[in-house]
Amino acid sequence: MNFLEKRILKDGVVKEGNVLKVDSFLNHQMDINLFDEMGKEFKKRFEGKNINKILTIEASGIGIACVVARHFNVPVVFAKKSKSINLDGEMYVAEVESFTHKNKNNVIVSKKFLTSDDHVLIIDDFLANGCALQGLISIVNDAGATVEGIGIIIEKGFQSGGRIIRNLGYHLESLAIVEGMDHTTGEVYFREQGDK
Ligand code: 5GP
Repeated sequence: MNFLEKRILKDGVVKEGNVLKVDSFLNHQMDINLFDEMGKEFKKRFEGKNINKILTIEASGIGIACVVARHFNVPVVFAKKSKSINLDGEMYVAEVESFTHKNKNNVIVSKKFLTSDDHVLIIDDFLANGCALQGLISIVNDAGATVEGIGIIIEKGFQSGGRIIRNLGYHLESLAIVEGMDHTTGEVYFREQGDK
């Protein structure tokens, strides 16, 4: 079991509706030493990739992406969520449906901060159905930039996002893949990832 899986078992809380709450260390209160370990691990898993920018999505991706970025020594761009339809032509836009909030948002990135010269590592906290990721991927594609890899902290392996993204040929690395959870017992089961 890796450092993150151990932490999930210790501090994660399983909620009804297949929701894993990790707000004591990941997406509300943030354990920066843990984030640093994640950065080190992503650096190892994406060794040799030519990455010059990290892209994430507000809000919970930002803190993680910033600490990961220290290990790659590159800037972070975060996609902003916006309900406004009054978007000028200077933005890349994608529509994303939120798994947790069940609503739709436009996510936007300024054309100034993503160009065809960029080689991007996408970072996000959770991968469930893959909507958030597909939005970020479409923004990178619209910019003519290259997705070098995708780093996820917790993938919910029993939802379809991971399979869809891997089938599209992307190099996706998830630090923990949850295969199942039971809110009545609080148990969480992980997918074996070899010696990763
Ligand atoms: P997707 O777009 O892949 O369906 O969902 C990804 C987004 O939904 C993540 O950015 C995350 O904010 C949220 N999310 C999905 N499942 C969970 C969960 O079990 N727990 C928490 N805390 N967030 C989740």
